[in-house]
Amino acid sequence: MLTAAFPGSFDPPTFGHLDIILRAAAMFDRLLVVVAGNTSKKCLFSAEERADMLRSLAGERKNVRVEICDSLVVDFLRKENAKLIVRGVRGAGDFSYEAELSAVYKAMDSGVETVFMAADPGHFHLRSSFIKEIASFGGKVDGMVPPLVAEALAGKFGRG
Ligand code: ADP
Repeated sequence: MLTAAFPGSFDPPTFGHLDIILRAAAMFDRLLVVVAGNTSKKCLFSAEERADMLRSLAGERKNVRVEICDSLVVDFLRKENAKLIVRGVRGAGDFSYEAELSAVYKAMDSGVETVFMAADPGHFHLRSSFIKEIASFGGKVDGMVPPLVAEALAGKFGRG
């Protein structure tokens, strides 16, 4: 039974995240999408809102579970008996950050392996921070995020 965890802020989830989730769910027996609860990043959406959006988007997949994690990801993995972390990589910029992060995970738990998944080339420009910026000015984010996320963004910025 190969279990992988895909941790992130998902603030909010984008088509880029969703693509990684669906591809990883097809590769592993079980995929845990792990929403960072206590993150140093200031999030627009609460952890519950982010998890609910992810459940609506990926919940149909029987082998995908969405959880909020308020502890260290490696502790969460240990609890779930999982050793694999999936991370998406858009390009060289992402890679240097992700490589460092994987070394940090390894230092915390030598049994943990990080699996990098190449982003779909059509998703290289999808970044939650850009999408929030665009939505805050009333710009169109259809094509970048699923409709339910676009609606949630419009609601947050008082345009719903
Ligand atoms: P974090 O705060 O952990 O970086 P994010 O929600 O920004 O959380 O990203 C979670 C994971 O999803 C990271 O591995 C990131 O590289 C990946 N990711 C983000 N955007 C995309 C995208 N457009 N295509 C593929 N992977 C992505």
